[in-house]
Amino acid sequence: MENQMRSRSSYTILEIDDLHNPEVLCGNSGISGSIQLHKYDDIPAFLKGNPYVKEGYRVLLPGYLCLRSLFSWSNESINIWSHVLGCLIIFFLMIYDNIIGIPSLHGTKTDHVIVTIGLLCFQFCLLSSAGYHLFMCHSEKASERWLALDLNGILVGLLGCYLPGVHYAFFCMSVWRDVYLITICFLFGGLFCLQMKPKFLTARYYRLRIILYVLICAYGIIPSLHWVWLSGGVSNPIVKFFFPKVVVEYLLAILAFTFYISKIPERFSPGTFDFVGSSHQLWHIVVVIAFLYWHHAGKQILAYRISNQCTYP
Ligand SMILES: [Zn+2]
Repeated sequence: MENQMRSRSSYTILEIDDLHNPEVLCGNSGISGSIQLHKYDDIPAFLKGNPYVKEGYRVLLPGYLCLRSLFSWSNESINIWSHVLGCLIIFFLMIYDNIIGIPSLHGTKTDHVIVTIGLLCFQFCLLSSAGYHLFMCHSEKASERWLALDLNGILVGLLGCYLPGVHYAFFCMSVWRDVYLITICFLFGGLFCLQMKPKFLTARYYRLRIILYVLICAYGIIPSLHWVWLSGGVSNPIVKFFFPKVVVEYLLAILAFTFYISKIPERFSPGTFDFVGSSHQLWHIVVVIAFLYWHHAGKQILAYRISNQCTYP
Protein backbone atom coordinates (compact mmCIF):
# COMPACT_ATOMS: atom_id res chain seq x y z
CA MET A 1 0.00 0.00 0.00
CA GLU A 2 2.78 2.32 1.00
CA ASN A 3 4.50 1.41 -2.24
CA GLN A 4 1.30 2.12 -4.14
CA MET A 5 1.00 5.51 -2.46
CA ARG A 6 4.61 6.29 -3.14
CA SER A 7 4.31 5.38 -6.80
CA ARG A 8 1.03 7.29 -7.04
CA SER A 9 2.65 10.35 -5.56
CA SER A 10 5.62 10.10 -7.89
CA TYR A 11 3.30 9.97 -10.89
CA THR A 12 1.53 13.06 -9.53
CA ILE A 13 4.84 14.86 -9.29
CA LEU A 14 5.42 14.11 -12.93
CA GLU A 15 1.79 14.85 -13.82
CA ILE A 16 1.33 11.31 -15.14
CA ASP A 17 -1.61 11.12 -12.77
CA ASP A 18 -3.98 9.01 -14.81
CA LEU A 19 -1.64 6.18 -15.67
CA HIS A 20 -4.02 3.68 -14.07
CA ASN A 21 -7.22 5.39 -15.12
CA PRO A 22 -8.48 4.27 -18.52
CA GLU A 23 -11.49 6.58 -18.14
CA VAL A 24 -9.38 9.60 -18.83
CA LEU A 25 -9.05 9.80 -22.57
CA CYS A 26 -8.11 12.74 -24.64
CA GLY A 27 -7.61 13.44 -28.30
CA ASN A 28 -8.95 10.85 -30.70
CA SER A 29 -7.25 7.78 -29.30
CA GLY A 30 -9.25 4.76 -28.28
CA ILE A 31 -8.43 2.31 -25.49
CA SER A 32 -7.97 -0.63 -27.78
CA GLY A 33 -7.48 1.06 -31.12
CA SER A 34 -4.23 2.26 -32.54
CA ILE A 35 -2.92 5.59 -31.40
CA GLN A 36 -4.06 8.31 -33.73
CA LEU A 37 -1.41 10.63 -35.05
CA HIS A 38 -1.89 14.30 -35.85
CA LYS A 39 -0.51 16.95 -38.20
CA TYR A 40 1.61 19.87 -37.02
CA ASP A 41 -1.17 22.38 -37.73
CA ASP A 42 -3.58 20.49 -35.45
CA ILE A 43 -1.42 20.04 -32.34
CA PRO A 44 -1.49 22.26 -29.23
CA ALA A 45 1.11 25.01 -28.91
CA PHE A 46 3.14 23.22 -26.23
CA LEU A 47 3.94 20.39 -28.68
CA LYS A 48 5.00 22.77 -31.45
CA GLY A 49 8.70 23.32 -31.85
CA ASN A 50 9.71 22.04 -35.23
CA PRO A 51 7.46 23.23 -38.08
CA TYR A 52 9.47 21.16 -40.58
CA VAL A 53 8.21 17.91 -39.03
CA LYS A 54 4.71 17.92 -40.48
CA GLU A 55 3.07 14.70 -39.28
CA GLY A 56 3.14 11.84 -36.81
CA TYR A 57 2.39 13.68 -33.55
CA ARG A 58 0.78 11.97 -30.56
CA VAL A 59 -1.52 14.44 -28.79
CA LEU A 60 -2.85 14.60 -25.20
CA LEU A 61 -2.61 10.89 -24.50
CA PRO A 62 -3.32 9.52 -21.03
CA GLY A 63 -0.32 8.02 -19.30
CA TYR A 64 -1.02 4.40 -20.15
CA LEU A 65 -1.37 5.25 -23.87
CA CYS A 66 1.89 7.20 -23.70
CA LEU A 67 3.45 3.97 -22.45
CA ARG A 68 1.70 1.93 -25.11
CA SER A 69 2.96 4.33 -27.77
CA LEU A 70 6.40 2.89 -27.04
CA PHE A 71 5.33 0.04 -29.34
CA SER A 72 3.56 2.08 -32.00
CA TRP A 73 5.07 4.12 -34.80
CA SER A 74 5.14 7.92 -34.43
CA ASN A 75 7.56 10.77 -35.08
CA GLU A 76 8.95 10.17 -31.55
CA SER A 77 9.63 6.42 -31.96
CA ILE A 78 13.28 6.77 -33.02
CA ASN A 79 13.86 9.50 -30.41
CA ILE A 80 12.59 7.16 -27.69
CA TRP A 81 14.15 3.90 -28.85
CA SER A 82 17.56 5.37 -29.71
CA HIS A 83 17.97 6.30 -26.05
CA VAL A 84 16.26 3.24 -24.57
CA LEU A 85 18.59 0.95 -26.57
CA GLY A 86 21.59 3.23 -25.88
CA CYS A 87 20.82 2.99 -22.17
CA LEU A 88 20.60 -0.82 -22.35
CA ILE A 89 23.96 -1.05 -24.17
CA ILE A 90 25.60 1.17 -21.53
CA PHE A 91 23.97 -0.84 -18.72
CA PHE A 92 25.48 -4.06 -20.10
CA LEU A 93 28.85 -2.30 -20.58
CA MET A 94 28.71 -1.33 -16.89
CA ILE A 95 28.10 -4.93 -15.85
CA TYR A 96 30.84 -6.18 -18.20
CA ASP A 97 33.38 -3.60 -17.01
CA ASN A 98 32.79 -4.36 -13.35
CA ILE A 99 32.88 -8.13 -13.72
CA ILE A 100 35.44 -8.62 -16.51
CA GLY A 101 36.85 -5.39 -18.02
CA ILE A 102 38.34 -3.62 -14.96
CA PRO A 103 39.51 -6.79 -13.13
CA SER A 104 41.32 -7.93 -16.31
CA LEU A 105 43.22 -4.61 -16.27
CA HIS A 106 43.97 -5.08 -12.55
CA GLY A 107 42.01 -1.90 -11.73
CA THR A 108 41.44 -0.70 -8.17
CA LYS A 109 38.20 -0.14 -6.28
CA THR A 110 38.46 3.54 -7.20
CA ASP A 111 38.54 2.57 -10.90
CA HIS A 112 35.34 0.57 -10.41
CA VAL A 113 33.69 3.57 -8.71
CA ILE A 114 34.81 6.15 -11.31
CA VAL A 115 33.86 4.02 -14.34
CA THR A 116 30.51 3.08 -12.77
CA ILE A 117 29.63 6.70 -11.87
CA GLY A 118 30.39 7.78 -15.45
CA LEU A 119 28.22 5.03 -16.93
CA LEU A 120 25.37 5.66 -14.45
CA CYS A 121 25.40 9.34 -15.47
CA PHE A 122 25.07 8.31 -19.14
CA GLN A 123 22.19 5.96 -18.31
CA PHE A 124 20.37 8.65 -16.34
CA CYS A 125 20.75 11.08 -19.23
CA LEU A 126 19.43 8.61 -21.81
CA LEU A 127 16.54 7.38 -19.67
CA SER A 128 15.31 10.86 -18.74
CA SER A 129 15.46 11.82 -22.41
CA ALA A 130 13.49 8.70 -23.43
CA GLY A 131 10.96 9.53 -20.67
CA TYR A 132 10.56 13.07 -21.94
CA HIS A 133 9.90 11.95 -25.50
CA LEU A 134 7.50 9.25 -24.29
CA PHE A 135 5.40 11.40 -21.95
CA MET A 136 5.66 14.91 -23.42
CA CYS A 137 2.42 14.38 -25.36
CA HIS A 138 0.42 13.75 -22.17
CA SER A 139 -0.22 17.37 -21.17
CA GLU A 140 1.46 20.75 -21.03
CA LYS A 141 2.37 20.24 -17.37
CA ALA A 142 3.83 16.78 -18.04
CA SER A 143 5.78 18.17 -20.97
CA GLU A 144 7.28 20.93 -18.75
CA ARG A 145 8.21 18.54 -15.92
CA TRP A 146 9.75 15.97 -18.22
CA LEU A 147 11.59 18.68 -20.12
CA ALA A 148 13.15 19.79 -16.83
CA LEU A 149 14.21 16.19 -16.20
CA ASP A 150 15.50 15.84 -19.76
CA LEU A 151 17.62 19.01 -19.49
CA ASN A 152 19.00 17.97 -16.11
CA GLY A 153 19.70 14.57 -17.67
CA ILE A 154 21.88 16.28 -20.31
CA LEU A 155 23.77 17.98 -17.48
CA VAL A 156 24.25 14.65 -15.70
CA GLY A 157 25.42 13.10 -18.99
CA LEU A 158 28.00 15.87 -19.41
CA LEU A 159 29.09 15.30 -15.81
CA GLY A 160 29.58 11.63 -16.75
CA CYS A 161 32.05 12.82 -19.43
CA TYR A 162 33.86 15.33 -17.22
CA LEU A 163 34.38 13.28 -14.05
CA PRO A 164 36.25 10.23 -15.46
CA GLY A 165 38.07 12.44 -18.01
CA VAL A 166 39.45 14.83 -15.36
CA HIS A 167 40.13 12.03 -12.89
CA TYR A 168 42.29 10.02 -15.30
CA ALA A 169 43.89 12.92 -17.19
CA PHE A 170 45.01 14.60 -13.93
CA PHE A 171 45.65 11.27 -12.21
CA CYS A 172 49.26 12.22 -11.45
CA MET A 173 48.50 15.88 -10.63
CA SER A 174 46.14 15.48 -7.71
CA VAL A 175 45.97 19.18 -6.77
CA TRP A 176 44.81 20.25 -10.23
CA ARG A 177 42.54 17.23 -10.44
CA ASP A 178 40.78 18.37 -7.25
CA VAL A 179 40.67 22.01 -8.39
CA TYR A 180 38.95 21.05 -11.64
CA LEU A 181 36.61 18.50 -10.05
CA ILE A 182 35.45 21.09 -7.48
CA THR A 183 35.06 23.79 -10.16
CA ILE A 184 33.02 21.43 -12.32
CA CYS A 185 30.76 20.51 -9.39
CA PHE A 186 30.11 24.22 -8.70
CA LEU A 187 29.38 25.01 -12.37
CA PHE A 188 27.05 22.06 -12.79
CA GLY A 189 25.40 22.70 -9.40
CA GLY A 190 24.73 26.33 -10.43
CA LEU A 191 23.14 25.34 -13.73
CA PHE A 192 21.18 22.58 -12.02
CA CYS A 193 19.69 25.13 -9.54
CA LEU A 194 18.87 27.50 -12.41
CA GLN A 195 16.99 24.72 -14.19
CA MET A 196 14.87 24.15 -11.11
CA LYS A 197 13.19 27.50 -11.84
CA PRO A 198 10.18 26.86 -14.12
CA LYS A 199 10.65 30.25 -15.81
CA PHE A 200 14.06 29.16 -17.08
CA LEU A 201 12.45 26.29 -18.99
CA THR A 202 10.11 28.50 -21.04
CA ALA A 203 10.66 29.29 -24.72
CA ARG A 204 11.74 32.82 -23.71
CA TYR A 205 14.92 31.44 -22.18
CA TYR A 206 15.68 28.95 -24.98
CA ARG A 207 18.66 30.98 -26.25
CA LEU A 208 20.08 31.51 -22.78
CA ARG A 209 19.80 27.75 -22.11
CA ILE A 210 21.63 26.97 -25.34
CA ILE A 211 24.38 29.51 -24.53
CA LEU A 212 24.88 28.10 -21.02
CA TYR A 213 25.08 24.54 -22.34
CA VAL A 214 27.62 25.56 -24.97
CA LEU A 215 29.67 27.35 -22.30
CA ILE A 216 29.63 24.41 -19.92
CA CYS A 217 30.80 22.11 -22.76
CA ALA A 218 33.41 24.62 -23.91
CA TYR A 219 34.70 24.95 -20.35
CA GLY A 220 36.36 21.53 -20.83
CA ILE A 221 38.83 23.16 -23.27
CA ILE A 222 40.48 24.95 -20.29
CA PRO A 223 41.46 21.83 -18.29
CA SER A 224 42.32 20.02 -21.56
CA LEU A 225 44.84 22.67 -22.69
CA HIS A 226 46.14 23.13 -19.15
CA TRP A 227 46.70 19.37 -18.94
CA VAL A 228 48.63 19.39 -22.25
CA TRP A 229 50.83 22.20 -20.92
CA LEU A 230 51.38 20.55 -17.51
CA SER A 231 52.26 17.29 -19.28
CA GLY A 232 55.04 19.00 -21.22
CA GLY A 233 53.27 19.58 -24.53
CA VAL A 234 52.19 17.43 -27.43
CA SER A 235 55.41 15.43 -27.48
CA ASN A 236 54.46 13.63 -24.26
CA PRO A 237 53.26 10.08 -25.11
CA ILE A 238 50.12 10.35 -22.98
CA VAL A 239 49.18 13.64 -24.66
CA LYS A 240 49.75 12.04 -28.07
CA PHE A 241 47.60 9.15 -26.93
CA PHE A 242 44.72 10.93 -25.20
CA PHE A 243 44.44 14.45 -26.66
CA PRO A 244 43.20 13.29 -30.12
CA LYS A 245 40.40 11.42 -28.31
CA VAL A 246 39.37 14.65 -26.56
CA VAL A 247 39.31 16.37 -29.98
CA VAL A 248 37.16 13.59 -31.50
CA GLU A 249 34.75 13.82 -28.55
CA TYR A 250 34.43 17.58 -29.09
CA LEU A 251 33.86 17.06 -32.82
CA LEU A 252 31.07 14.59 -32.01
CA ALA A 253 29.57 17.13 -29.57
CA ILE A 254 29.72 19.86 -32.24
CA LEU A 255 28.10 17.53 -34.79
CA ALA A 256 25.31 16.60 -32.35
CA PHE A 257 24.74 20.23 -31.41
CA THR A 258 24.66 21.28 -35.10
CA PHE A 259 21.82 18.82 -35.75
CA TYR A 260 20.02 19.99 -32.58
CA ILE A 261 20.09 23.66 -33.41
CA SER A 262 19.92 23.71 -37.22
CA LYS A 263 16.93 21.41 -37.81
CA ILE A 264 18.85 19.92 -40.75
CA PRO A 265 17.89 17.97 -42.89
CA GLU A 266 14.12 18.55 -42.46
CA ARG A 267 14.32 22.32 -43.01
CA PHE A 268 15.37 21.63 -46.63
CA SER A 269 12.48 19.25 -47.25
CA PRO A 270 9.64 19.74 -44.74
CA GLY A 271 7.62 16.57 -44.23
CA THR A 272 10.19 14.19 -45.73
CA PHE A 273 11.90 13.30 -42.46
CA ASP A 274 8.85 13.25 -40.16
CA PHE A 275 9.38 9.67 -39.00
CA VAL A 276 12.95 8.80 -39.97
CA GLY A 277 16.04 10.96 -40.29
CA SER A 278 14.99 14.23 -38.60
CA SER A 279 17.59 16.41 -36.89
CA HIS A 280 16.48 15.50 -33.36
CA GLN A 281 16.82 11.80 -34.13
CA LEU A 282 20.31 12.40 -35.51
CA TRP A 283 21.18 14.42 -32.39
CA HIS A 284 20.05 11.48 -30.24
CA ILE A 285 22.09 8.94 -32.20
CA VAL A 286 25.26 11.07 -32.16
CA VAL A 287 24.84 11.57 -28.37
CA VAL A 288 24.81 7.77 -27.88
CA ILE A 289 27.87 7.41 -30.14
CA ALA A 290 29.65 10.18 -28.17
CA PHE A 291 28.94 8.41 -24.85
CA LEU A 292 30.16 5.06 -26.20
CA TYR A 293 33.27 6.66 -27.70
CA TRP A 294 34.10 8.48 -24.44
CA HIS A 295 33.65 5.28 -22.48
CA HIS A 296 35.99 3.46 -24.89
CA ALA A 297 38.57 6.29 -24.61
CA GLY A 298 38.22 6.22 -20.81
CA LYS A 299 38.96 2.49 -20.74
CA GLN A 300 42.08 3.07 -22.84
CA ILE A 301 43.43 5.81 -20.57
CA LEU A 302 42.60 3.65 -17.54
CA ALA A 303 44.70 0.83 -19.04
CA TYR A 304 47.47 3.36 -19.77
CA ARG A 305 47.40 4.66 -16.19
CA ILE A 306 47.59 1.17 -14.75
CA SER A 307 50.57 0.17 -16.90
CA ASN A 308 52.51 3.47 -16.65
CA GLN A 309 53.93 5.04 -13.52
CA CYS A 310 53.36 8.74 -12.77
CA THR A 311 56.36 10.78 -13.91
CA TYR A 312 55.10 14.21 -12.96
CA PRO A 313 56.07 15.98 -9.72
ZN1 LIG B 1 15.59 14.60 -27.27
